[in-house]
Amino acid sequence: MNLHEYQGKEILASFGVNVQRGIVADTPEKAVAAAKTLTESTGTSWHVIKAQIHAGGRGKGGGVKLAKNLDDVRSIADNILGMQLVTPQTPPEGKKVHQVLIAEDVYYPGPSETSEIYMSVLLNRASGKNMIMYSTEGGMDIETVAEETPHLIFTEEIDPGLGLQGFQARKVAFNLGLSGTAFKEMTKFVSALYNAYVGSDASLFEINPVLKTADDKILAVDAKVTLDDNALFRHKDYAALRDLKEENPVEIEANEAGLNYVDLDGNVGCMVNGAGLAMATMDLIKQSGGDPANFLDVGGTADAARVETAFRLILKDPKVKAILVNIFGGIVRCDRVAQGIVDAYKNMGDAIKVPIIVRLQGTNAEQAKELIDASGLNVLSATAFEEAAQKVQSVL
Ligand code: GDP
Ligand code: MN
Repeated sequence: MNLHEYQGKEILASFGVNVQRGIVADTPEKAVAAAKTLTESTGTSWHVIKAQIHAGGRGKGGGVKLAKNLDDVRSIADNILGMQLVTPQTPPEGKKVHQVLIAEDVYYPGPSETSEIYMSVLLNRASGKNMIMYSTEGGMDIETVAEETPHLIFTEEIDPGLGLQGFQARKVAFNLGLSGTAFKEMTKFVSALYNAYVGSDASLFEINPVLKTADDKILAVDAKVTLDDNALFRHKDYAALRDLKEENPVEIEANEAGLNYVDLDGNVGCMVNGAGLAMATMDLIKQSGGDPANFLDVGGTADAARVETAFRLILKDPKVKAILVNIFGGIVRCDRVAQGIVDAYKNMGDAIKVPIIVRLQGTNAEQAKELIDASGLNVLSATAFEEAAQKVQSVL
């Protein structure tokens, strides 16, 4: 589950990580009120107004603006709220902004007195350890830094059994070229950040930039946080942080129907039982020149109702030019699945305008093929995997 910046910062703060203070707002009036409240506690009348969407690169897209007084706050918030923000990380049409974060300006007295650092905590799957990745080149696109100046990116691996050691936090501060107060503040920052990552069962904390202020404070200015869905049962209070407006509506509907659906860019819809077979099916579609439009695991019970729900979900994607059904009948019998497909097809009338290729293998596969072939519907049957892929290719 991905979070908004303001939510990520709330989690960070709850673990004692220093963050740029801010208040979220969904109208220009609330933005002004937020700025007033912030000024009372921070003493500064300059604020940044930041669009809250699940995508980075907002600064480049015009979603992060500096306001020097309350009139600025109002007009900038008014501008950003409701806009379709396009950044290098959004889909081409952008994402609609429903909320802005009003945050204290922490770049006083100016950019030359501050420095932007990159820092993230994530799992290194290869070593099975957690990893802090950091760089003096903060505020920039880290992929570009990795490509052009890879020697400026450091990593520190942490054994999850031992936790972050004091010497490791000091090493991070040292490699970042810090000294004095900033050095001490950075070691505190790193330990608190690591605790937040472990304590919230996150799979990613990316803070770009971490700011060293002119008076040697270390602050999280941005926060990209991904929580591990499989650990959410341990954090009931985090469930409320899910923002369905940011998620794909078809994926939400599929989730509610108990189907595992992931939207992809291609033109061949897939309906498969079992995640492993779904992956293999997608590979085969690719190899035979097609491109999968989705990942869909219908699970063990492929009855007519479930098959129909799956067809309807797949067909919501206008890119779909053909559907490949690839089901292995182990527990579920193939002839029952075939009957389910035929029933669903008839039930849906003209809703299905694309050819369907069905490959059923396993118990009663022969009867299943006969059922499909005798149905008179625009459904092609196949028994071998390659044959199914070729048939898909022939209808595209
Ligand atoms: P992103 O573009 O989506 O990654 O959003 P960020 O939160 O990283 O903000 C983008 C940029 O806005 C930062 O790299 C800073 O240069 C700038 N910025 C953020 N907060 C402040 C602030 O308090 N004052 C000023 N002057 N600039 C800020
Ligand atoms: Mn950022």
